Amino acid sequence: MAQYDVVIIGGGPGGYNAAIRAGQLGLKVACVEGRGVLGGTCLNVGCMPSKALLHASELFEAAKGEFATLGIEVTPTLNLGQMMKQKADSVTALTKGIEFLFKKNKADYIRGWGRIAGPGKVAVKNDEGAEITLDAKHIVIATGSEPTPLPGVTVDQKRIVDSTGALSLPEVPKSMVIIGAGIIGLELGSVWRRLGAEVTVVEFLPRICPGMDEETAKTFQRALTKQGFKFELGTKVTGARTGDKEVTLTLEPVAGGEARTLTADHVLVAIGRRPFTEGLGLETVGIAPDKRGVIETDHFKTSAPGVWAIGDVIHGPMLAHKAEEDAVACIELIAGKAGHVDYDLVPGVVYTAPEVAWVGKTEEQLKAEGVAYKVGKFPFSANSRAKINHETEGFAKVLADARTDRILGVHMVGPQVGEMIGEYCVAMAFAAASEDVARICHPHPTRSEAGRQAAMGVEGWTMQA
Ligand code: FAD
Ligand code: NAD
Repeated sequence: MAQYDVVIIGGGPGGYNAAIRAGQLGLKVACVEGRGVLGGTCLNVGCMPSKALLHASELFEAAKGEFATLGIEVTPTLNLGQMMKQKADSVTALTKGIEFLFKKNKADYIRGWGRIAGPGKVAVKNDEGAEITLDAKHIVIATGSEPTPLPGVTVDQKRIVDSTGALSLPEVPKSMVIIGAGIIGLELGSVWRRLGAEVTVVEFLPRICPGMDEETAKTFQRALTKQGFKFELGTKVTGARTGDKEVTLTLEPVAGGEARTLTADHVLVAIGRRPFTEGLGLETVGIAPDKRGVIETDHFKTSAPGVWAIGDVIHGPMLAHKAEEDAVACIELIAGKAGHVDYDLVPGVVYTAPEVAWVGKTEEQLKAEGVAYKVGKFPFSANSRAKINHETEGFAKVLADARTDRILGVHMVGPQVGEMIGEYCVAMAFAAASEDVARICHPHPTRSEAGRQAAMGVEGWTMQA
């Protein structure tokens, strides 16, 4: 039986970062991964392949229209096979990179499905069915999440797909219905719309992207609508009939009213994700997930001594960078260090065009908490770099405490704002006031000036035009 300080179950952003950090800290560590490749959802069927398709499809659409405005005349032809191949090649390069980092940091990669087999024991079954047992002083559960199913709309990965199926459609659908106006629906909807599909998004709630700052979400929805997205908000899907070439959905207004049908070549179900703990043997150590399947933790410690959990399988936003923060903090705590994550400062980004990025509290949260705040806002239509690049949609908005001026939240919708939000993560981690950012020299001409001008706007001295 192999003896380890730490055995991690799951090789996604939570698991692989935990393994690497454990190796760096001199712990004897193994990471058990069942999918046959490291990187988890993020690298294999999540963040990275979706961003590869978002990048390629954005350029394709630009070549069809915007290039001509810039004086570049081309007639692009879509080679979907090549677009998918470059996506797959990039993913392979990334997952191989993690194997390299495991070797470099002396972390063992154990291929197979892991199961907790009692305190301090992890049984691993490989693809051939052989089982080995690893002896672990600490077990870290990093088994991630899976798409939430929608009763009555069964995913077959042909006509009705989840995010994994939508990353590998063999052809561009003429029409696509997306159930769920969340991040997956709007990112993958953008990909297929840019490549030629008519996209309709059906959302249960009366708004898109619940949890996002409402003004930001409204501006975002307007931008997507201009691009051709259709939205059916406040609408529920009550059934699906799959034919050879199309799917017919039955829709009903949530508020009550007549049912109607909507037919499309493909349907993408993207109504959220749920923790994945199937066959994990949690019962052997007395861990009972809550009714949503989430493993309860206190500073990553589960209710079972020596068993820890991180990433999508515990509370908090289901994001790769959050899983990564959990991983480092958890391993540092195991190693007797002071691991810590500030969950108020986990940023979010939607990688569409325009992008949406945020960190900290929304206006709705501040109102609900009764916090008095001031708003500084700056439109990209007044930012010289955005203007010169013909990317003037959206704004940057800074919310600051009315009494202390401390920045409480930042919300942006606009060109590549995902690259701009990091500045505010740093500022907020150092408890910056809006005036601190407002008085820092930013390079000209850059979009980051819009972020600074929003901070200047808190005290009403915005100036750039
Ligand atoms: P996962 O990445 O899910 O990894 C868990 C791993 O554990 C899996 O590889 C699984 O095979 C393995 N496993 C499970 N059970 C066992 C077992 N018993 N034995 C062995 N192995 C097991 N987040 C972002 O921050 N940015 C993005 O742009 C982004 N885009 C996304 C796009 C899509 C389409 C999707 C679906 C998700 C996206 N996410 C994004 C979310 C991100 O992928 C997850 O938050 C992140 O992967 C969670 O990391 P994790 O390590 O907790 O779990
Ligand atoms: P989500 O929670 O972002 O959105 C799901 C949407 O579906 C919500 O708007 C919800 O109201 C709606 N919904 C729920 N039930 C419904 C129903 N029955 N009918 C119609 N609508 C319904 O979930 P997602 O888009 O599936 O993404 C899952 C997770 O993956 C998210 O937690 C997200 O953080 C992560 N992710 C992140 C990124 C990124 O960071 N760029 C990209 C993709 C995914």
